[in-house]
Amino acid sequence: MNSLGIGMTSARTRQRMVDRLRDRGIIDERVLEAMAQVPRHLFVDEALAQRAYEDNALPIKFGQTISQPYVVARMTEEVIKSQHAKKVLELGTGSGYQAAVLGQLIDEVFSIERIDKLTRSARRLFIKLGYLNIRCKTGDGFQGWPSEALFDVIICTAAPEKIPFSLLDQLHVGGKMILPVGDNKKQKLVAIVKEPHGYQEEVLGDVIFVPLLQGVVR
Ligand code: SAH
Repeated sequence: MNSLGIGMTSARTRQRMVDRLRDRGIIDERVLEAMAQVPRHLFVDEALAQRAYEDNALPIKFGQTISQPYVVARMTEEVIKSQHAKKVLELGTGSGYQAAVLGQLIDEVFSIERIDKLTRSARRLFIKLGYLNIRCKTGDGFQGWPSEALFDVIICTAAPEKIPFSLLDQLHVGGKMILPVGDNKKQKLVAIVKEPHGYQEEVLGDVIFVPLLQGVVR
């Protein structure tokens, strides 16, 4: 690789991304530090590595996307706001980037992806980068991961049209589900806190994610 190539994917470039996140209002230093550590350029195709530290979503394989750094940072802030977020479930592993950022901060991260080839390449990266606390599998996120429940937080990085309330069964009371909800034109990021007899819903803002789809692709 030429020197420009190395420069564009260096720790310094990553630090500039972090500075921009801070300027945009990300205040949790733990999140900023985690994002300064994770080499995002390894989670995108080599041809796009030069653009990995721009604040944009980028295409990954199979028509999916790696989330925009700002959105990853916001969702991660929301996750660790939960006092005891020790065990987290992600739906939509994709490139594995969001899981890796969580892996820097959370004891145990579980992640489900419906496209088997994406699961496999994310798993290879987790091993290569030493994330022993991340487990991933191919499955339908709508089902959650019953054998590992209960979770402290469930984070969904693809948008269902309606809130899948059945997943609340896999959360501790006091636990939280963070997810985009809506169609391909309009989505809201919402946080749902499970209470002893119901739940509370908070709208966090407008977002756009790929859809959460049923079934797996082998
Ligand atoms: N967190 C990812 C974002 C990937 S985009 C990252 O940081 O790169 C969302 C992913 O959700 C896609 O890979 C898509 O295949 C996956 N997905 C969609 N519906 C799903 C479902 N029902 N269960 C699991 N994964 C799903």
